[in-house]
Amino acid sequence: MKKMMMSDVLDERKDFVCVSGESKKGFKCESNSVAGAVSQRACVYCGARVVLNPITDAFHIIHGPIGCASYTWDLRGSLSSDKEYYRNAFSTDLSEQDVIFGGGKKLAGAIDEIVATYHAKFIFVYATCIVGVIGDDVQAICKAAEQKHGIVCIPVQSPGFSGSKSTGYKLACNAILNLMSRAEEGPKLKGINVLGDFNLSGEMWIINSYLKEIGVKVVAKITGDATCEELMQAPRASLNIVQCAGSMMYLARQMEEKYGIPNLKVSFFGIEDTTNSLMRIAYALKDPEIIARAKAFTARKSEETAKKIAPYRALLEGRKAAIYVGGGYKAISLLKQFKELGIDTVVVGTQTGKKDEYDVIRSLADEGTVILDDANPAELEKFMREKHADVLVGGVKERPLGYKLAVAFLDHNHERKHALAGYDGAVNFVQELNLSMNSPVWSYLKGDAAV
Ligand code: SF4
Repeated sequence: MKKMMMSDVLDERKDFVCVSGESKKGFKCESNSVAGAVSQRACVYCGARVVLNPITDAFHIIHGPIGCASYTWDLRGSLSSDKEYYRNAFSTDLSEQDVIFGGGKKLAGAIDEIVATYHAKFIFVYATCIVGVIGDDVQAICKAAEQKHGIVCIPVQSPGFSGSKSTGYKLACNAILNLMSRAEEGPKLKGINVLGDFNLSGEMWIINSYLKEIGVKVVAKITGDATCEELMQAPRASLNIVQCAGSMMYLARQMEEKYGIPNLKVSFFGIEDTTNSLMRIAYALKDPEIIARAKAFTARKSEETAKKIAPYRALLEGRKAAIYVGGGYKAISLLKQFKELGIDTVVVGTQTGKKDEYDVIRSLADEGTVILDDANPAELEKFMREKHADVLVGGVKERPLGYKLAVAFLDHNHERKHALAGYDGAVNFVQELNLSMNSPVWSYLKGDAAV
């Protein structure tokens, strides 16, 4: 890597950054964040909450100080087609007294109150940082509540300091496995589970409609717009498709081991990946009728979508993009989408990408593209300036950075307001890009701004 580019990066962070086309040795990922480097990653509890919160008929009790509970539905755009219980965050609101004398009684009282008020049947209890320190026996309290009320009450031991966001994903997957283990066994169903889509702006509904078109039934949606009863049916499905591999691959592997369900990694972002994913699902199910329907459907939708996108290419071609997203699969799809539009990706990074995902990213990225894992705002700013990015694709934490640098921004995280999945999402994506990148506001700011 050129000295000029690395001069402002902390020494301990240099192995997490590389430039496509240069040395392939030593790129570091899937590691703990460097202390003091101001990682953009969320905490363990947040990782668990991201995965479990979209379950629409579950109640979520955050056993900890009220601050942890602020991480609620309002920051997450998962939609429901039925119950809306998940939109509430219940907290035991631990204070100094509880830290000294223990918060167990408060938690038991909170469970009693929720059962009495809402007739709750399924409760997840998240133990956050302070509970990890004072040592309330959350497991025993949940077990006692199950016996007392005849409900399912699952503890999620997720103190923020006990790992990274990825640790939280794993804890959530274990909580889902716990839920699944409560169901009675039944015969196998002809259908699939969709893992790792959280129904942001209704994306699960879009994917579901495509699967329906090609004749594939969905047994369980994990976890966007899911119910607990539905999740308990998941072990009876014949295939797991995994979109957000970072959060759900662990669950897929566990389900393969426990229930013999094979899995398939997919992505529904962009025309190419949506088509490939639908065809791979059809071939995996080995049903000639589904394969024929998938071929016809993907051919028709690809053509229609390409026609809708084509006029935008002239407005966006030749521009430069920076990508900083949560998981590797999304970065890979975005690289392909930008290539289709003639946009050059100059910076690409993820919070929790895996080594195999970074290998794909390196193979897709043009020479000179900066690739970085677990970046911080200072690094993103530095590389966006050096590479003259015109747009930043990221989440709520990256948005202010983009705007401060007078760079267009596209929200591709849980807060997004437009569905970006599937053929429909590919059109929304390009329309949103165009609106942001070609907004007249940039002509007023560019002169003073740094990028
Ligand atoms: S880091 Fe700890 S205190 Fe902060 S939100 Fe996460 S669990 Fe709560």
